[in-house]
Amino acid sequence: MSKRDYYDILGVPKNADADEIKKAYRKLAIKYHPDKNPDDKSAEDKFKEAAEAYEILSSPEKRQRYDQFGHAGNSAGGGGYGGGSMNMEDIFSQFGDIFGGGGSPFEGFFGGGRGGGRRVNKGSNLRIKVKLTLEEIANGVEKKIKVNKQVACHTCHGSGAKDKGSFSTCSTCGGQGSVRRVQNTILGQMQTTTTCPTCHGEGQVITAKCTTCHGEGVERGEEMITINIPAGVGEGMQLSMSGKGNAAVRGGVPGDLLILIEEIEHEHLKRDGNNVVYDMHISFVDAALGTQVEVPTIDGKAKIKIEPGTQGGRILRLKGKGIKDIQSHSRGDQLVHVNVWTPKALSKEERGMLEKLQDSPNFKPSPGKNDKGFFERMKEYFE
Ligand SMILES: [Zn+2]
Ligand SMILES: [Zn+2]
Repeated sequence: MSKRDYYDILGVPKNADADEIKKAYRKLAIKYHPDKNPDDKSAEDKFKEAAEAYEILSSPEKRQRYDQFGHAGNSAGGGGYGGGSMNMEDIFSQFGDIFGGGGSPFEGFFGGGRGGGRRVNKGSNLRIKVKLTLEEIANGVEKKIKVNKQVACHTCHGSGAKDKGSFSTCSTCGGQGSVRRVQNTILGQMQTTTTCPTCHGEGQVITAKCTTCHGEGVERGEEMITINIPAGVGEGMQLSMSGKGNAAVRGGVPGDLLILIEEIEHEHLKRDGNNVVYDMHISFVDAALGTQVEVPTIDGKAKIKIEPGTQGGRILRLKGKGIKDIQSHSRGDQLVHVNVWTPKALSKEERGMLEKLQDSPNFKPSPGKNDKGFFERMKEYFE
């Protein structure tokens, strides 16, 4: 997990604005473009790395998640983009908004480019909720979830065409997906490039449509998706998996799957950040004589020793029994609040016994400097 910082990759400060980020990426994209660096693996890696950094930092939503949770915030896909799951198609489809207009600069620059002026259809994002137990949150979990969504049509595999021969190059744009218009204006001749009105930027037209999807290339279906949820996520946090959303019409790039986290309340334990809190009640006899008790933890039961003379209000700390931090992976603690139970009802016999103890000097409160009061304990709690 030694991924580079996205801001470092682009060489911009943490407070860089959208414009700076775009400029920095544009520079790197031109420098490391595969057409300019053929068969250069390290240039290709740098190109992909920069594209990934831009993908995250150019989206206010993803950037905020990254600032808050680091790489984990956008990597529910297990390894996330790290494994290079952002493919070249995704990267080139980004260029539309980097270099303005439909035309990639590489068209002229590198002799045709890859995406050319063609538009890539993008599927819509899909939102799902995932409920997690405290145990699952503490250590991270792999969830297999069946998602109802738009999938590629099973008949035409997403192309929308009846068969392989049902395509022809768009005659309006000659397959470019865009058309140039020359207009005479008072400033002289102006050339503009617009999306081809015939093929809507796809560069080709379907001559016979698939009968299952009527040419759309998509149909309703379901997919089993494995989601790797990192340890330390919390209520309301949203993870994203690139390309796992709805399929796009006619074989475009699928949208993203957004995963909203919900916490299931634990029967005994409460979460406080990365710590887990347990409210324990012991009798005042046990508090006075000392005992051993079992407490629930995220990893099952744990035995703890109650020293003779334990005061109510003490907080016992079980080191490392809390939740893993989403960024540093270090584990929080379990805090056990000691509550000394005072009997609410007494038999005649019990009352008699206690009355004998009432005036015993050992039963008079006499707090020393080790018997911390409320504020002292709170200080200890938060350190
Ligand atoms: Zn079809
Ligand atoms: Zn066309």
